[in-house]
Amino acid sequence: MKIKKFTFNSFLENTYIISSGKKCMIIDPGCSNKTEQHQMDDYIKLNQLEPIELINTHCHLDHIFGNKFIAETYSLIPKMHIKDKPLLERSMDIANMYNVKLDPPPQDVKFINENDIIEIGKTKWKIIFTPGHSPGHICLFNEQQKTIIAGDVLFHLSIGRTDLPLSNHKDLIDSINNKLFRLSDNTEVFCGHGQNTNIGFEKINNPYL
Ligand SMILES: [Zn+2]
Ligand SMILES: [Zn+2]
Repeated sequence: MKIKKFTFNSFLENTYIISSGKKCMIIDPGCSNKTEQHQMDDYIKLNQLEPIELINTHCHLDHIFGNKFIAETYSLIPKMHIKDKPLLERSMDIANMYNVKLDPPPQDVKFINENDIIEIGKTKWKIIFTPGHSPGHICLFNEQQKTIIAGDVLFHLSIGRTDLPLSNHKDLIDSINNKLFRLSDNTEVFCGHGQNTNIGFEKINNPYL
């Protein structure tokens, strides 16, 4: 298994391509211009990968800038939790509010739920429902590799913002304590912004928890 990380757009969002063999999954495509789109496409072509899943941990702008490009280029239907659909539906208005350019993200999507399993090559990723930063936020957990893609729930020495519309601080803290902090301490955390961390380190050092 290989996890390739790109940091894209003005929000410095982390986009991940996870591959096993020649199959890959794209998580939170944040590519917001031609240069960033080419970086992803070049990586996929160079490694002869076949994208088979497009997953959004949640539908804030910085995580969906590239949804249209990725969906159309690789004929994929984005998957997300139904409770973030309102954010997707309002995304063009929100982009106008922030005065940023957004390629209209496809509204034809598929919904994923807690405990669903996404298979990429030899790897299995379990969906964990982690609301709070957004109402339908999900993480992807790989039990064998002790790896979690955590979106904007937990960061290195920080946590997701809850001052945004539809955010809920208590839900976020519950998601971290009852879901992420139940994983083993050596679980590596790939965050939606900034560097990686691990569960044990954040249990001891995170100043917000
Ligand atoms: Zn977010
Ligand atoms: Zn973000």
